[in-house]
Amino acid sequence: MNISIVIPLYNEDESLRELHAWIHKVCEAHSLTYEVIFIDDGSTDSSWKVIEDLSQNNNNVKGIQFRRNYGKSAALYCGFIKAQGDVVITMDADLQDSPDEIPELYKMITEDHYDLVSGYKKKRYDPLSKTIPTKLFNATARKVSGIHNLHDFNCGLKAYRKDVVKSIEVYGEMHRYIPYLAKNAGFTKIGEKIVHHQARKYGSTKFGGLNRFVNGYLDLLSLWFLNTFGRKPMHVFGFLGSLMFFFGLIASIIVGGSKLYALAEGIKAPLVTDSPYFYIALTMMLMGTQMFLTGFIGELVSRNASERNEYHIKNEI
Ligand code: UDP
Ligand code: MG
Repeated sequence: MNISIVIPLYNEDESLRELHAWIHKVCEAHSLTYEVIFIDDGSTDSSWKVIEDLSQNNNNVKGIQFRRNYGKSAALYCGFIKAQGDVVITMDADLQDSPDEIPELYKMITEDHYDLVSGYKKKRYDPLSKTIPTKLFNATARKVSGIHNLHDFNCGLKAYRKDVVKSIEVYGEMHRYIPYLAKNAGFTKIGEKIVHHQARKYGSTKFGGLNRFVNGYLDLLSLWFLNTFGRKPMHVFGFLGSLMFFFGLIASIIVGGSKLYALAEGIKAPLVTDSPYFYIALTMMLMGTQMFLTGFIGELVSRNASERNEYHIKNEI
């Protein structure tokens, strides 16, 4: 099979038929074999009914229905597990992404050998309250991830080589950082394609408010941390802890030494608590020990983590 089209959806019954017909038309016209996997993320409208209908008339239509709303990342994750096509394309269900882009995206993966191609909605039809924070978000994501050629991390329209989606685990709100996940898994040929974007035709956006930015940044932070130190916590905390302990030790030698010196010389020895070095020594040594233990505990935790030995093997003979 050439293409799996993975479509997460939450209450989008109005657009599904139109989207399906459009995808079908495009794939037929380019003689691409395909499957469409709709993941109904706990819709409360008649979305699942429509999907059942569609699959009855077209064998290429498959579906997963969640019992409740788990979020877009969970939906994508399950779609990725089910996908069988050589190229996996994700798109939103709201008709904002155009199926006309499918053949070109397919070509970029198969002929230009990209691992991942992300859509770039250069001209967006979203309200300003959405586009301005998005710019900020993308700038940060570019910096942290080191993928400097992507303008639009969060675009729903993306194409992947099959290996990529089978090697990454999307959870929480990580769907915004899939290129970063892919890069961490060793897929570095990441490209971009300018895509057409349309205003939402039916329904309203499922992602609003400030919440998504706070959570978005926290996710980015934990991804960065996991990627940098996740497998070797002792290297960070152990190092920091030892360093602090060392400074604490020097400070306490200064305190103890000057006290002894004063006693030996018979000068009136000041109280050790009068010296600022006493407090520096105290805090540094306490914090250093804590840090060291944190690293040690982190190491124990990561030793017990089920994915401690999960490496993405590219080839095997
Ligand atoms: N979506 C989903 N689960 C959710 C929220 C959204 O599957 O909990 C789907 C939604 O139905 C759509 C896609 O994710 O197909 C993108 O959502 P939306 O269009 O609301 O986001 P926006 O384009 O406004 O960023
Ligand atoms: Mg949308």
